[in-house]
Amino acid sequence: MSTLLFKGNYIDGRFNQPGGRSHSLVSKDPGDLDHPVGTFAFSEEDVDGAVLAAQKAFPSWSEKEQRVRDRAAIHFQKALKKRSRDLAVLISREMGKPIQDAEQEVARMIDRVPLARTDSARIRKGEAFSIKPGVRGLLRYKPRGVLGILGPFNFPAHLPNTQILAGILLGNSVVFKPSELTPFVGQFLAELWDEADLPEGVFNLIQGDGRVGRALAIHEGVQAILFTGSYATGQKIREETVHQPAKLVALEMGGKNGAIISRHVDLEEAVCGTLLGTFSMAGQRCNATSRILVEKQIAKRFLDRFMASVKTLKVGYSLDPDVFIGPLVSRRAVEKYFSLTALAPQEGFDVLQKAEPVLQEKKGYYVGPSVALKEVKKGETPAGAYTEEEIFGPNVAIYVVESLEEAVRLHNSSRYGLVASFFSTRKEEFEWIFQRLEVGLLNWNQSTTVSSARLPFGGLKQSGSHHPVGSFVPYLCAYPVAVIEKRSSKRKER
Ligand code: NAD
Repeated sequence: MSTLLFKGNYIDGRFNQPGGRSHSLVSKDPGDLDHPVGTFAFSEEDVDGAVLAAQKAFPSWSEKEQRVRDRAAIHFQKALKKRSRDLAVLISREMGKPIQDAEQEVARMIDRVPLARTDSARIRKGEAFSIKPGVRGLLRYKPRGVLGILGPFNFPAHLPNTQILAGILLGNSVVFKPSELTPFVGQFLAELWDEADLPEGVFNLIQGDGRVGRALAIHEGVQAILFTGSYATGQKIREETVHQPAKLVALEMGGKNGAIISRHVDLEEAVCGTLLGTFSMAGQRCNATSRILVEKQIAKRFLDRFMASVKTLKVGYSLDPDVFIGPLVSRRAVEKYFSLTALAPQEGFDVLQKAEPVLQEKKGYYVGPSVALKEVKKGETPAGAYTEEEIFGPNVAIYVVESLEEAVRLHNSSRYGLVASFFSTRKEEFEWIFQRLEVGLLNWNQSTTVSSARLPFGGLKQSGSHHPVGSFVPYLCAYPVAVIEKRSSKRKER
C-alpha cells in the first residue's frame, strides 16, 4: 500500500504545514508495520491560529440562514458518499478494524446527516408557551461559539464527525483534533469538509498528540470541549479546565461493560451477543463486553458453547476477507493487553484461553482472544487491575454468580458505568435489572455494542460527565436562552 501525503493542518480554509517548533510522528498500519500510512508533523503553537480562525468565522456563520448551513451538510454528505470506500479502507489501515466494521462506521456517518439536520431544526425552533394574555415564554437556543473536538482512535471518523456536523449545523465553528494514531483519517475528514463550501474558518483541523489536545482543551477562546477518549485523559482535561467554569466540558470515556445472563435465556442469543460484544474490533470499543456475569444454573451450557465459538474466530489483516479480529492499534495496546491479562490468575481467575501473540504473514500487532473464569461467592467483590481496568483488547472475564442480585451487585461494583446487556426471556426480570443497574445504556437480548443514533449515548461514574452524545449531541452545541416576550400595548406608528 502506498504512503499518503501529509497536507498539514487545515486552518482558515487552507491546508498548511505546521509552523514553529514541530514534532513528527509516523502513522503506522498496525496490521502491516512494514508499510506505514504516512509521516505527519505538528506543533502546539498552531492551536492559537486555529482557534483564532474559528473565532473570526463564528459571528457571521452563526447568523447565516439555516438553509445555508443545511446546504453545507448536504455537500459534505455528497462528498462522503463519493469517497466512502476510500475512507473505509483508510480507517481499516490506520487503526486496524476489519473492513466490514470500517464500512459500517462510514455508513453511520452518511445516515447521520439527515438525522442531524432534523435534530438541529427541532432545537432551533425551540418551544413556546403562553404565560398570560399578551405574554409568552420561549425556550430558544444559541450556538456556543468555538467547539474544540478531541477524537479517539477507535471510531476516528464517525464519533468526532457526529459532533462536527451538529456543531456546524447549529452555527458554531469547530477546531477538530484527531487522535495521533489516526491523523490521516482526520485529514480525510478535512478534505470532505473542504468540499462542503463552508466559509473559511468554520471547520479547522489541527493535528497532534496530547500536547496539542491539551493546548486546545485549555484555550480560553474555546467555549466547549467535546472529548471522547480514556478516563485518564478526560480527568486531566477536567482538572485543567476547572478555572473556566463557563466552558462546557463533555467527556465520553471508557467502560467495563457487563453482559448479565439469566438462567431464563435463549442461549444462542446470549452466545452470539456476548461473542460480538467481546471480540468485535478486537475489543477496542468503549461499549465492548469485558465481563460476562452468568447465573450458575446455566453457566456450564453457556461456557461450552461460548468457548467452542471463541476457537473459530479468525484473527488477521483488516483488509483481508472474513477477518473478525484485526490487530490492536499499537505496541502500547499490546503491552497493556498482555500485562493486564497476565494478572488474572493472581486475582483468582482460571484462564480458559490465554492471551497470546498471533503470527501472520504481515508484521503487526496481532493477538488472539482470551477468556478467564471465576466462580464468585455471595458477597465477594473481586478486585485488582485485571478485574477493574479497561483492557481494550479481545478479553473477557466470565463470572459465575449465584443469582441476578449478585450479578447486579458485581456489575455496579465497577468504577465505570457505560453500558450493560441483559439476556433473559422474561420482561419482569429486565424491568428489575433496569431499576438497579448503574449504566447510561442498557440493551435487552442484544450485545453491549448495539446502539442507535436516535438515542443518547453516555455513561455514569468514570464513563462520562453526564453530557451524553448520540442523539443529545445538538444540546452540547447550543445553549438555552429563556425569553419572555410581552406584546407592546402601543401599536407601532407607521
Ligand atoms: P485517549 O484518551 O488516549 O485520547 C483521546 C484524545 O485525547 C486523542 O485525540 C488524544 O491525542 C487526546 N489527548 C491526549 N492527552 C490529552 C490531554 N492531556 N489533553 C487533551 N487531549 C488529550 O483515548 P484513545 O486511546 O484514543 O481512545 C480509547 C478510549 O476512548 C477508551 O477508553 C474508550 O473506552 C474511550 N471511548 C469512549 C467512547 C464513548 O463514547 N464513551 C467512545 C470511543 C472511545
